[in-house]
Amino acid sequence: MEHHEPVGGRRRTAASVPDLVSRAREGQPRAVARLISLVEDASPLLREVMAALAPHAGTARIVGITGSPGVGKSTTTNALVTELRRTGRRVGVLAVDPSSPFSGGALLGDRIRMQEHALDPEVYIRSMASRGHLGGLSWSTPQALRVLDAAGCDVILVETVGVGQSEVEIAGLADTTMVLLAPGMGDGVQAAKAGILEIGDLYVVNKADRDGADQVRRDLRGMLGLAERREGAWKPPIVPTIAQTGQGVDDVVAELERHWAWLDASGEQQARRTRRARDEIEAIAVTALRARWGDVHGRSELDTLAVAVVDGATDPYAAADELLAAFAD
Ligand code: GDP
Repeated sequence: MEHHEPVGGRRRTAASVPDLVSRAREGQPRAVARLISLVEDASPLLREVMAALAPHAGTARIVGITGSPGVGKSTTTNALVTELRRTGRRVGVLAVDPSSPFSGGALLGDRIRMQEHALDPEVYIRSMASRGHLGGLSWSTPQALRVLDAAGCDVILVETVGVGQSEVEIAGLADTTMVLLAPGMGDGVQAAKAGILEIGDLYVVNKADRDGADQVRRDLRGMLGLAERREGAWKPPIVPTIAQTGQGVDDVVAELERHWAWLDASGEQQARRTRRARDEIEAIAVTALRARWGDVHGRSELDTLAVAVVDGATDPYAAADELLAAFAD
């Protein structure tokens, strides 16, 4: 199927979906990039793309990388790519910008730092803006991950740019959530605040060359030690690194491998994948419902019902029933 779409004001003929998918599966970077662009643009072709990709995805290990700005996420990602390539793995990197208006520069910085991997055909690097999407991260990131997974990536590193809710969101998307801390950033207090003590499968204390790194490790060990864990539960390790020189990054990979083995043996890998699929179905369904109710543009059935509730003409439960009935038509 040939289709046309506007690109930069021009119209051009794009490749067919089956062709793009088969080229992406062969590992052609341009095809992979094109498919991720379709996700980013919320293209109507996505339904066909996802159907074609479905049988080929489900083997990649997804590693979420989170931490405050400046802690060393992109430096660590870069060093991890080097180490994972050394172990012969095909690697995907997805830098997601869920919110921050300042991330354009940061992403550009990442790209520059990732230059050394730019010519490696076994590495895909992609940044993606999910801001402005209905459902944000929950909607677009899983689909971009599926593209990279189907393209044969053994490991996909998902780095979030920006702070806040994204840290918890990324944990929902990953098999392994890696939390980065560093000395001199007030992370001890922030860690407790942002709830990162609950989400980490692996803690990396970066900038181990700096004063205070040992203190961060001790504080973290103390705080993690307070958590109650079930018998056989995973105990998150703490790994010191100097991302700039790559020191300790091999230990990070060893701990990742240990975590993946635990995920498989405990059944947690399957549980996490199922939970993610559930969230994704829900996000797509909710997006479809909202589109149907038209709450994106102008006055909608939902608006009309809201006015009726305010006027006392109906109640919220009856209004919700009416809305759902409209969807069932
Ligand atoms: P991000 O904002 O979390 O992605 O952090 P970056 O990777 O951009 O790193 C922030 C700054 O910390 C940069 O100037 C890095 O060069 C520096 N940095 C990263 N890792 C280390 C490290 O292990 N030791 C030291 N001293 N500096 C580091």
